[in-house]
Amino acid sequence: MSRLMIIGCGGVASVAIHKVCQNDEVFDELMIASRTVSKCDALKEKLQGKTKTKITTAQIDADDVEALTKLIKEYKPDAVLNVALPYQDLTIMDACLAAGVDYIDTANYEPEDTEDPEWRKIYEKRCKELGFSAYFDYSWQWAYEDKFKNAGLTALLGTGFDPGVTSVFAAYAKKHYFDTIDTIDILDCNGGDHGYPFATNFNPEINLREVSAPGSYMENGKWIEIPAMSIKREYDFEGVGKKDMYLLHHEEIEALGRNMPEVKRIRFFMTFGQSYLDHMRCLENVGMLSTTPINYNGQEIVPIQFLKALLPDPASLGPRTKGKTNIGCIFTGKKDGKERSIYIYNVCDHQECFKEVGSQAISYTTGVPAMIGAMLVATGQWKKPGVFTTDEFDPDPYMEALNKWGLPWKVEENPVLVD
Ligand code: NDP
Repeated sequence: MSRLMIIGCGGVASVAIHKVCQNDEVFDELMIASRTVSKCDALKEKLQGKTKTKITTAQIDADDVEALTKLIKEYKPDAVLNVALPYQDLTIMDACLAAGVDYIDTANYEPEDTEDPEWRKIYEKRCKELGFSAYFDYSWQWAYEDKFKNAGLTALLGTGFDPGVTSVFAAYAKKHYFDTIDTIDILDCNGGDHGYPFATNFNPEINLREVSAPGSYMENGKWIEIPAMSIKREYDFEGVGKKDMYLLHHEEIEALGRNMPEVKRIRFFMTFGQSYLDHMRCLENVGMLSTTPINYNGQEIVPIQFLKALLPDPASLGPRTKGKTNIGCIFTGKKDGKERSIYIYNVCDHQECFKEVGSQAISYTTGVPAMIGAMLVATGQWKKPGVFTTDEFDPDPYMEALNKWGLPWKVEENPVLVD
């Protein structure tokens, strides 16, 4: 039996919390701690009585390491699952170290203020040396390796769908299908329609930052950076149909590039509709995606945060969204001296997710793997001292859990490849 603390109570957290409560044979106790405690209380109210998991709630500002350490020490969880924002990754890792508890998250660190001169100095050095300019990267969290190792604690980074499941797919392909993998194409397709001209499926600030940044991929161990949205392909996705997809920078490329250096090329593609792209370009051109505060009538406003306040809350898209997601990886390589290619993917239906847990498929496909990662760490199946991504453990129990907890996957031999 395990006791888990979940930090954050937004779209992804809500699904992870539902799934923890369904998995009450493993999780007998859960604390939901977040900035706005009323959201935690509302979820507790909804789930209590339908689960054996004993739920408690707490108000916490996860930027405050001291207060968070105190809360963790008082509650004494087996692990802390961070589904707040990537801005809180380092403070929550610090608190976990101080309290002696394992750490799990779904997205790698990025700073809230990208104009912070201390952060910018390190960022600009990294851009020059490594050749990719995304605001987020693993270096900040990989720097905790010795601290977690020396403390005998596990930090599992990025156990959402992508990153998360996609890297588990890579470990699974390597273990069961290939002697050597030559290329990995990660394809993220959202065929869902929420009926709004423009909305984001998860936190708008994080989502728009990711999408408006230059794209990049890895070839022969080196980053190749391209202007945002400048490589476009069409792919026919099961359950969705033909969609345009664009090459983006994505965090699992960095981890897979480090942990599977034999792979010659790793790319990530995401589908976008024309309306989404037109809105995004326009918002960017007028400065609404900026993270630099401006003074408006005596009040300091961060444009992208103001935009977030105007856009529909991602959690409210659930009841409106129809259609499916299809996320997976195409691998090419060799087995027993012969060329081989496979596609491992999951198809998820927005409305079925909503029926089950009251959220659309984007939150669902992230929240389920968050619970699975937390389960594997808390039960000791994925436990070793240090800082790891999901490709660095035995993929089999994770793959089995995906089938059991709502994200069944398929393996297709000889799929259509992306040129
Ligand atoms: P939301 O904005 O819906 O939720 C974030 C939650 O964190 C909110 O409850 C918010 O509180 C809380 N929070 C924010 N700051 C703090 C703080 N300082 N202290 C305590 N709580 C805080 O985000 P999502 O649920 O969409 O995303 C959650 C995470 O999942 C993000 O890191 C995102 O990048 C990641 N993600 C990963 C994916 C993957 O596949 N790997 C895909 C999608 C998302 P409040 O309610 O007060 O606002």
